[in-house]
Parts: sequence; structure tokens; C-alpha cells
Amino acid sequence: MIPLSQPDITDAEIRAVTDTLRSGRLSIGPRQVQFEEAVAERTGRRHAVAVSSGTCGLHLIMLALGVGPGDEVITTPFSFIASANCILYVGAKPVFVDIDPRSLNMDPEKLEKAITPRTKAIIGVEAFGNPVHMDRLAQIAQAHEIPYIEDCCEGLGGVYRGHPIGSFGRAGVFGFYPNKQITTGEGGMIVTDDDRLADLCRSMRNQGRGEMAVPANTSGLDNRGGSWLAHERLGYNYRLSEINCALGVAQMGRLDAMLEARRRVAASYIRRLMDFRDLILPTVEEELAEAMSWFVFVVRLNDTYTHVERDRIITGLRRHDIGAANYFPCIHLQPFYRERFGFAPGAFPIAESVSHRTIALPFYNTLDDTQIELVCLTLKVMLDREQLMKR
Ligand SMILES: *Cc1c(COP(=O)(O)O)cnc(C)c1O
Repeated sequence: MIPLSQPDITDAEIRAVTDTLRSGRLSIGPRQVQFEEAVAERTGRRHAVAVSSGTCGLHLIMLALGVGPGDEVITTPFSFIASANCILYVGAKPVFVDIDPRSLNMDPEKLEKAITPRTKAIIGVEAFGNPVHMDRLAQIAQAHEIPYIEDCCEGLGGVYRGHPIGSFGRAGVFGFYPNKQITTGEGGMIVTDDDRLADLCRSMRNQGRGEMAVPANTSGLDNRGGSWLAHERLGYNYRLSEINCALGVAQMGRLDAMLEARRRVAASYIRRLMDFRDLILPTVEEELAEAMSWFVFVVRLNDTYTHVERDRIITGLRRHDIGAANYFPCIHLQPFYRERFGFAPGAFPIAESVSHRTIALPFYNTLDDTQIELVCLTLKVMLDREQLMKR
């Protein structure tokens, strides 16, 4: 079986986790500080706040920006559902903007037209790790004095026009689920240069406690931040354990090697698939060759294929023990978005057309050339079958 994705765990990670278990300190400790520092440094940000998932991070950002009922937040329909669900968590209305068919990111021209006096934030996403347009989207947001938030859960370690992914907006949020560039099992990280936003997020992830509150089993109380049982605001338990953070520190130490391995796998796929006439390969601009952070490898069938044919190809790959998936179905067409907001097919034609024809292929650091060859050969058989059936 060649899975769709697989985490890259070495002895370094295993040692980091067992050392943590032996240390006796399992939450709020030195590993969290180290992990936060590593991500802050990598993204060139003043603050990094570890949280228990990317989704929690997005939720806290919405709360910290004061987004609520009556507000609109603009985002892309072509993303993982958390990009939009965080808007619903705070009772605001998601406003979707169609994508550019090359980068698969929000189209800057269309963003401009979607802004209204109610727009309280704009959430941009680097689809599959591609950062194209992030600078323009951030500029448009800034011109309208609206906070730009990067849901950069798919782009850790990438750089675009000299700026690290995660540094384009008021804040960025990373996720560390096992299929991401680095993993902590579950986990996320908010990055920002805004002191107030960082303090609010640190407090809200920790039950609304003062920033400097010290756990009850630690000696002394810190006067600056109040005690462990003083809750200054409504908070949550969105903390990330020391075990997860230890994993994160070890993974961050290997990030460059892992990104390089992913670039190698992507290049190998592209070389082999270049001559498949029915496929549209990921478009990665020349300027990104060195700096792209590959999250997944997604090819697209050309527009002679329907989503039924696409789904049959995915099923065929799986029957041959090759992981494949339809990344991503459009968010606005998910059942509860349709029901709640009345979206229907045709609302965002480019995102819909793309999402009907994508196939995510197996993609992880240790995928070797023989496995890649096997995936490509099997895909070729599936495509040839579809062509014969069309006759
Ligand atoms: C993975 C991902 C998230 C959420 O991450 P979790 O850590 O699983 O909550 C959010 N947005 C996008 C675009 C993602 O790909």
C-alpha cells in the first residue's frame, strides 16, 4: 500500500517524546517555549502561540479581532473547511471569493469587489502550499484597513518574494496534523507581530487566565498576571501539551531537509507526468522553485472529464492500493453551508470546476522513485480506461 500521506518520524522525535515523558512536565513548560521560538524565528514573527490545532488557532484569531454576529469575513471556497468554520464559530457570515485557476488561491480582482462596510477580516489560504497572490491580497486588505489573516496551515517553511509564509498579514495560523509538512500529532501555532493580539490569544488558549499565571503545583504566584484561578476573560482550553511540543521542536530541527525531500518528490512526479495530455500539473512559478513548501501533490484532469470520471479514477487507484483523494470539495457546497446560507452550484464556477477534477496523489518525504513510478503507471492505466470508455 502506498498511502496518501505519512508522517516522517525518526529517532530524534521518539527520543524527544520519551525525554519529555521522563521529565514529569507534561503541560506548560520549556518545550512549548522552544517550539514557539522555533516557529517565530522561522516565520520572522515576534510572537508564536502554540495551540491544540490549526482550527483552534483560527478560532482564537477571530475572537481576538472581535469578529462577531453581523460581521462578514471573506475567504476562499477552495480550502479545507476549517478556513470557513472559524467564521461560523463566532457567529459571523462567510463571504466567499472565487479563485484564480492557476494558483488556486483567492483571486485578488474578485476580492476587491467582495469588500463591504461589514467586512471585518479577510482570510487568505496558500492552497496546497502555493503562496501566489499573498502579497496582493494583503495589500488590498491594508488599503481598506481590514485585518488580513493567513490560514497558512498548508505552507510552513515557504517563502514568497522574500517574505516567509505566515508573515503577510496581521496574523498567521499553522496546523500540525499528521499530513502537514511537520506534525505534532495534533497541534497548531498562531504567529503575529501584534503584542496585544498575542497576549489575548495566550490568555484565551489558557482558560482566560492572565498571561503570566503559573500552575498551582508550581512554587510562587506571579503578581503581574494573577493567579491560576483568576480568569480575566472567557477562555478555552486550547493548550498544546509538552509531548506535542517536543515532537514539534524535533520536527522543526529537520524542516529544511523535509522540505527539500518534498521538493524532490514533487519534481519527480512532474518529470514523469509532464507528457500525460489529460493532466494539468500544479503550476508553480519559476520564482518559487527554491522556496515552495509542498503540502500535497494535486493534479487536475482537463475539462473533458466529469467529476464522476474523476471519482472513478480515484476509486481505481485505491483498488490498486494507492492512496488518492478529491482535495478539496468546495466549502460553500458542503451540506450545512448550502442549508444555512442557500449556496447552490454555479456560485463560484472556477473553484467548482477545479474541485470536480482534482486528484491528490500519494505525497510524503520518504516516497521513493519506484513508488512514484508505480503511482504514475497506475494513473496512466486509469486514464487510458476512461478514454476507451468515452468512445
Ligand atoms: C489542515 C488545515 C487546517 C486545520 O488544521 P487542524 O490542525 O487539523 O485543525 C486549517 N486550514 C487549512 C487550509 C488546512 O489545510
